[in-house]
Amino acid sequence: MERMSCDVLVIGAGTAGLKAYKAAIARGADVLLVEKGPGGSTCTRVGCMPSKLLIAAGRLAHDARRAAGRGVHVGAVEIDGPAVLRELRAERDRFVRSVLDDYHAIPDGRRLQGEARFTGPTSVVVGEIAIDAAAIVVATPAALVVCVVVGGLVLGVLNTVLTESVMEATDLPRSVASSAYSGVRFLGGAVAPPVATLLADTIAPSAAYVFAAASVAVGLVIVVAGRRALRRVDDGPESPRVEAEAISAGEVS
Ligand SMILES: Cc1cc2nc3c(=O)[nH]c(=O)nc-3n(C[C@H](O)[C@H](O)[C@H](O)COP(=O)(O)OP(=O)(O)OC[C@H]3O[C@@H](n4cnc5c(N)ncnc54)[C@H](O)[C@@H]3O)c2cc1C
Repeated sequence: MERMSCDVLVIGAGTAGLKAYKAAIARGADVLLVEKGPGGSTCTRVGCMPSKLLIAAGRLAHDARRAAGRGVHVGAVEIDGPAVLRELRAERDRFVRSVLDDYHAIPDGRRLQGEARFTGPTSVVVGEIAIDAAAIVVATPAALVVCVVVGGLVLGVLNTVLTESVMEATDLPRSVASSAYSGVRFLGGAVAPPVATLLADTIAPSAAYVFAAASVAVGLVIVVAGRRALRRVDDGPESPRVEAEAISAGEVS
């Protein structure tokens, strides 16, 4: 199997993919673009553009029918459906050609035809070519939706486990405990992107992941070392009565 590597791998030559490719090239990155279909983007072929052309034809007919009310007489309005669609397809094909011109302007060696399949977090296979990339841009709506839903699911479960554990581990009022751990969490969220970028720039792209794994290990050590404080978490959730009292007192957000 042939091997290739790049800084940024863009999957999908639609509207988003072509923009991502140009943006990465403009920043001097070594970029590869993978497209499994004919290219030309959903927006141009079957989405925004053809639908707006159809709406434009409908609006013309509508305006012509109302024109008499403004003193302009255009005669009977007839709609020739096949002619409308012929015009629409001709315009649509013109739009598609201009998107394809952009796509074909990408040098052959930088543009791969085939379906990208992930083999690891930063590696994909396209036919008989294995590609390693420092970063991968997934510019396909279906993959994005799946990633967002799966990511949201994991984050949601983590958030619930964390909140419940903190609330049960402390005697502090819930509002104080909640703002304390949220403060730590948000601070971490604010610091992580610049630190990750710095590590990737100064050491290697993988350094950010190694640092994240090390942070998890440190967190694990802290949890194990402080397990006494966490013992009551294992005793199970508060009784419904205690929880109801806390809610009534406005301590649960
Ligand atoms: C009827 C209709 C009307 C719309 N009207 C509007 C509108 O008015 N305004 C608006 O903003 N949006 C509109 N949209 C939405 C708009 O078309 C999409 O949001 C936009 O096209 C998405 O662009 P994209 O680059 O993410 O995906 P796409 O343009 O769909 O490109 C994705 C590309 O990725 C490729 N691909 C997928 N998986 C792989 C893989 N594994 N390996 C390699 N390549 C892969 C596909 O072949 C495709 O070429 C409309 C959509 C429809 C259907």
